[in-house]
Amino acid sequence: MADGAAAAGGRAAAEGASRIEAVVSDFGGVLTTPLMASFLALQDAHGVSAEDFGKAMRAAAKAGDGEIPLFKLEKGEISEPEFLDQLRDGLEPLLGHRPELHRFREVFFEALDPNEPMIDLMRECKRSGRRMALLTNNVQEWEPLWRTMLPVDEIFETIVDSGWVGYRKPEPQIYEMTLERIGIQAEACLFVDDIEANCEAARELGFTAVHYREAGQTIAEVRGALGL
Ligand SMILES: [Mg+2]
Repeated sequence: MADGAAAAGGRAAAEGASRIEAVVSDFGGVLTTPLMASFLALQDAHGVSAEDFGKAMRAAAKAGDGEIPLFKLEKGEISEPEFLDQLRDGLEPLLGHRPELHRFREVFFEALDPNEPMIDLMRECKRSGRRMALLTNNVQEWEPLWRTMLPVDEIFETIVDSGWVGYRKPEPQIYEMTLERIGIQAEACLFVDDIEANCEAARELGFTAVHYREAGQTIAEVRGALGL
């Protein structure tokens, strides 16, 4: 009877696990160390506080069509040089001078390292037979920097990058594009992201979502959802 119960339990676990056929992961802050380090590095390199960067971004949005320049950059609507010019426009009245923001992307990426426990987890998900997709809010010009940070092509069969597709999380279109590319329904997908609003949007579309706060908690939740 104990064996029977264990077998039934095993079947239940297997059936529960089989619901998830694909894992869709964020990049920055999930497969890398926290982005806060990048914001602090930018602060040090340029002598501009994170708060002033935020204010400048909002001022630049107001001066334009209302959308913050970072979001436009992430959707490939403006180039990186245009983004930096808009940011400098916003910073100039705050600082009393027009700051140089050269090496912005280098400073940003030099502060990040691969998040090895999470990369190992993604390998484990792949080995379990799950389809693997990377869904990232990113920047066209930054591709050579972020792609070399981790074994993207070894783990993921598809990369949906906001900079190239013209939508960004949490816009539903970018999740739908991801599902279309892997040919799997949201209900059979697990989504991982360090921004809760991105997880919310995924859940509204039917995904199971894990909000990354730290590696241990995320690894436990992902393994639980996949029955690993
Ligand atoms: Mg992220």
